[in-house]
Amino acid sequence: MNKTKKSQDLFEQAQKIMPGGVNSPVRAFKNVNSSPIFIKSAKGPYLYDVDDNQYVDFIGSWGPMILGHSNPRIIKAVEEQLQLGTSYGAPTEGESKMGQLITSVMPSIEMMRMVNSGTEATMSCIRLARGVTGKDKIIKFTGCYHGHVDSLLIKAGSGVSTFGLPDSPGIPKDLAQHTVTVPFNDIDAFENTYKSIKDDLAAVIIEPIAGNMGFIPGEIEFLKILREATSACGAVLIFDEVMTGFRVSLGGAQEIYGIQPDLTALGKVIGGGLPVGAFGGKREIMEQLAPSGPVYQAGTLSGNPLAVAAGTCLIQRLIELNPFEELELNAKFLLNGIKEVMIQKGIPFVSNQIGGMFGFFFAEQQPRNFEDVVETNDKNFEQFFKQSLDQGIYFAPSKFEAGFISTKHSESVLINVLSKIQAL
Ligand SMILES: *Cc1c(COP(=O)(O)O)cnc(C)c1O
Repeated sequence: MNKTKKSQDLFEQAQKIMPGGVNSPVRAFKNVNSSPIFIKSAKGPYLYDVDDNQYVDFIGSWGPMILGHSNPRIIKAVEEQLQLGTSYGAPTEGESKMGQLITSVMPSIEMMRMVNSGTEATMSCIRLARGVTGKDKIIKFTGCYHGHVDSLLIKAGSGVSTFGLPDSPGIPKDLAQHTVTVPFNDIDAFENTYKSIKDDLAAVIIEPIAGNMGFIPGEIEFLKILREATSACGAVLIFDEVMTGFRVSLGGAQEIYGIQPDLTALGKVIGGGLPVGAFGGKREIMEQLAPSGPVYQAGTLSGNPLAVAAGTCLIQRLIELNPFEELELNAKFLLNGIKEVMIQKGIPFVSNQIGGMFGFFFAEQQPRNFEDVVETNDKNFEQFFKQSLDQGIYFAPSKFEAGFISTKHSESVLINVLSKIQAL
């Protein structure tokens, strides 16, 4: 019996109208040699597909569903706004309120601007950093993903500080050459690169806790050195907290490490499931943005009232509940349970979690950077992913992605998941 027939049929149709059948590449399940399931609805910790299968969802829309799917408060907030209009192209009170909520828990953000995606947020941070410093070079770290921004779709070759080669056709070499890539968590490599380009350096951008090469926390000494080095040469330190913001703790990774970046990019959770991004930071930098300054940035739907209603409602609730310790304990419970199963099978398995984000690798040792992740076992991952999905457990379809847990993933839900994994 084929229990995902309707999904497969829909995927056939989708491939005719959309490249690869999807609107964002990871969704296609290509990494795991599989085809995607099509979702019909979602509630609490569960997704339901078009064939009426139920899945325990450990992706949570890549972060936003931190209170579970179809949260009644968020639905109500959006419904109320819906009656008042969906977009005005003019300022609303809600935008400042949402900004105040964000700055109240992320003090490095003195001023902010809203956009519609994480990509727009990081792109605008880069432009602003270049605009205020008058310099062009950027340092990024291999395996960190910052959206599909031209300047940031660059990874290193095998050298310590390979000068940018575009990751994708369509990115001019002239632009790529200004992005220099360094291995994550590698202080020596960073310092060498830094020395050679610090006079031309506009910004260093990093995911302080990386969630796009699996889940790999930055090491504190490493992050401190980035802070010192950028301050010393007048470059802008950008924390890309699109994934970690309101996910690893209320104040994001910057609160956990006690390091204040100059600019922060946000997205995912802050939209409560609607398309939102934001970026902000030091007042003197943010005031360089148009219309108060010369660096141009704009958006027809930026600060959209529906998105602001959803995002504000979610952030308010997170401030009330502060669920991050509980989320971390639950993630740990899940991962320890999986680890026991893997030990019994003699399969090397390591895992890690902070707040509502987690990751696991089929490896003997916790990877410290992208190069380590590449070495982890693909076959074991693929098999575990497929068998879990078949049992109604939906993990991210790539070893280069993180996992997400919500407040609706109760102990009983997790015990049920573990009993299925034990039976794999
Ligand atoms: C998802 C993500 C982005 C891009 O956000 P989009 O909304 O997909 O454009 C940027 N940075 C990080 C760290 C992300 O996880």
